[in-house]
Amino acid sequence: MNSSNIRVLFVTSEVYPLVKTGGLADVSYALPNALRQLGVDVRLLLPGYPAVLEQLSLIEVHEEIRLESLQEPIRVLAGTMPGGITPVYVIECPSLYERDGGPYQDNAGKDWPDNALRFGILSKVAALFGNHSLLFKPHIIHCNDWQTGLVPAFLAFNSNPHARTVMSVHNMAYQGIFNPEVKELLDLPPESFSMFGLEYHGQVSFLKAGLYYADWITTVSPSYAKDIQTPTYGSGLDGLLRERQNQLTGILNGIDTAAWDPETDPYLSRNYHIKNLQVKVRNTQALRTKLRLPPAKQAPLLGMISRLTEQKGIDLLLPIIPTIIKTGAQLAVLGSGDGDLEKRLQQLAEQNPTHISVTIGYDEELAHQIEAGANIFLMPSKFEPCGLNQMYSMCYGTIPIVRHTGGLADTVVDATYDNIQNKIATGFVFEEENSEELLSCVQRALRTFRDKTTWRMLQINGMSRDFSWHHSAKQYVSRYHQLSD
Ligand code: ADP
Repeated sequence: MNSSNIRVLFVTSEVYPLVKTGGLADVSYALPNALRQLGVDVRLLLPGYPAVLEQLSLIEVHEEIRLESLQEPIRVLAGTMPGGITPVYVIECPSLYERDGGPYQDNAGKDWPDNALRFGILSKVAALFGNHSLLFKPHIIHCNDWQTGLVPAFLAFNSNPHARTVMSVHNMAYQGIFNPEVKELLDLPPESFSMFGLEYHGQVSFLKAGLYYADWITTVSPSYAKDIQTPTYGSGLDGLLRERQNQLTGILNGIDTAAWDPETDPYLSRNYHIKNLQVKVRNTQALRTKLRLPPAKQAPLLGMISRLTEQKGIDLLLPIIPTIIKTGAQLAVLGSGDGDLEKRLQQLAEQNPTHISVTIGYDEELAHQIEAGANIFLMPSKFEPCGLNQMYSMCYGTIPIVRHTGGLADTVVDATYDNIQNKIATGFVFEEENSEELLSCVQRALRTFRDKTTWRMLQINGMSRDFSWHHSAKQYVSRYHQLSD
């Protein structure tokens, strides 16, 4: 079978630009685009949140379905991604998806109490595509994270499945664990509720279901594929992953190189590229002005764009911020999440308004401007399945400081003496999860910043790297072939 004959249903709970809470949305947009360019007939399936129904073009009713778990009928609508080429199926079910708030939580940040049903139904409808019930008949159903974890389970117990399943893990820390009553609610076969199935310490785990029943498992970087087989990073499922290690592959995420290109980025005050890197400083000036940070000609500006959660190592950074800014360096943070971390960052900014700017919220435009304006990007994550911002940074000539974990370890080459000599260094990497190591890594970066020749070389090395989806998409295609041939 060649690529153009492969049909794939890509099931996801978020996709840029319709609805996004994190990296999964970026992947769900960019990977299907890259797959289509390789000739794969890939189509998306996602829940009909209000933002999705409002923004999608060419919506028509594709199928009407009745499910035992629900009183109302469900409609599957067909449309196309805005400005894009990827066809999209949307599940229209007002009682489950049409409400104010985020895809997983209400406006107060509380999980929706019916998430098991909301994402159980997403999985159920996806499984119908895989057993000849609907018009589009994919060879592969590509599932993403716990929200789609029941798809492989439903298909495993179906008498007539024709689709094989790939389960992609974007973050092991989110597992979709619910109380056992959801078995009946979703008509899960009783025999699936076992250690050799979707049961997890007496509960139902959507992610475990996916990992147990999928034909193949992928995760978003080779290092994270190894990490999650250890108790430290496996979030309780490392044993199962070790058992399935021969059906587990790490495929590094790419980035959307059209949206993240300093040469064409519409949000920048001045576009630039590898050959006129001196223009980057205009973006630094514009960013300082926008964030009301005073000019500081010789001092570097450090940027950070992040969900403010424990995972991202914010608590490693907080205690050393006073020491960092004492050197004259400035810090621009954009993020939202944990209320306590937000507050502690805001307090530091109030106490040091000439050196620290903290923007709480989600702001795509500012994210691009920080990537372009900052000299250094901070990403001291405790764990990182792949991470996107360190790759954006390298494309923008902004040098990342990262911890040696998951996708950060796979993408950033530490500026050691040898790596600088060999012209492969792209950033600064530290090992241990503690503030002292982070601080000494930052200090190493600040010293190197003063050596303009070496700094320019790090920028050029990073900007020359190819982080496009093309290479990764080809690896997914060969996996699809192996499963469906
Ligand atoms: P994760 O998926 O764990 O949040 P990633 O680095 O893989 O982390 O992806 C995060 C994505 O979300 C990136 O595109 C990043 O720029 C974006 N992002 C995170 N927080 C914000 C924010 N507050 N404003 C704008 N973009 C953000």
